[in-house]
Amino acid sequence: MNKFKDVLKVFFNTILELIYPEKGICFICEEYDAVVDETHICKKCFNELTFVKGNICTICGKPLELGYLPDRCPDCIRLNHYFEKVISPLEYTGFVKKAIYKYKYGKKAYMYKALGPILVQAFKESDINDIDIIVPVPLHKSKIAYRGFNQSELLCRYISKILKIPLDIKNFKRVKKTEVQNKLDKRERIKNVKNAFKVVNNDVFKNKNILLVDDIYTTGATVDECSKTLLKAGANKVYVLTLATVPIRYF
Ligand SMILES: [Zn+2]
Ligand SMILES: [Zn+2]
Repeated sequence: MNKFKDVLKVFFNTILELIYPEKGICFICEEYDAVVDETHICKKCFNELTFVKGNICTICGKPLELGYLPDRCPDCIRLNHYFEKVISPLEYTGFVKKAIYKYKYGKKAYMYKALGPILVQAFKESDINDIDIIVPVPLHKSKIAYRGFNQSELLCRYISKILKIPLDIKNFKRVKKTEVQNKLDKRERIKNVKNAFKVVNNDVFKNKNILLVDDIYTTGATVDECSKTLLKAGANKVYVLTLATVPIRYF
């Protein structure tokens, strides 16, 4: 019964996306506002977003505590990541947390239209300019069946279209059904995602610079394992773009 309800909900939201006008509706609060353009976010919601600012870790992009001398967070000082660096425009707290939760678990797939422009802007402001392919962090097929969509894939489609960089959604798979990461500590997270991903055809990623996209960066265990797998398949470099990052003090 629940599954049927879920399918109906996804169906209903897809219809909503089709009937919503291109302008005038904020896809976060769902209010009508004549000045809302095709970025689908009203001024009130935009002002509630907490953007990462000030000193950030040059590797994982997390905001650093004031007075913290090095340009790396304690985590990135301690261990080497497989990815080059992470771009994360938002802090995963308060309003941002609620909005991403609504997008992922509220089956509101169309919200990618409000969140995608934030990612595009962050990428444009970064110093990354050598991406060959955009790839989403894949979900296990059982999760897609349950959720109805892969939130990262929808964001990738949007970014790819706007930035005119090719997208690949078929060659990188999640082959292990992993536990939900948010209940696990750092060590358990690393173990949980170990060998969870697979590249179907190595030739597709050979010598390519990949932009890996996900919604949230917490400890980096997932994107690091993804990056490891992509490099093993012959990729040249992996950069990571996530919507939001969990500030260091929160985990
Ligand atoms: Zn709004
Ligand atoms: Zn860091």
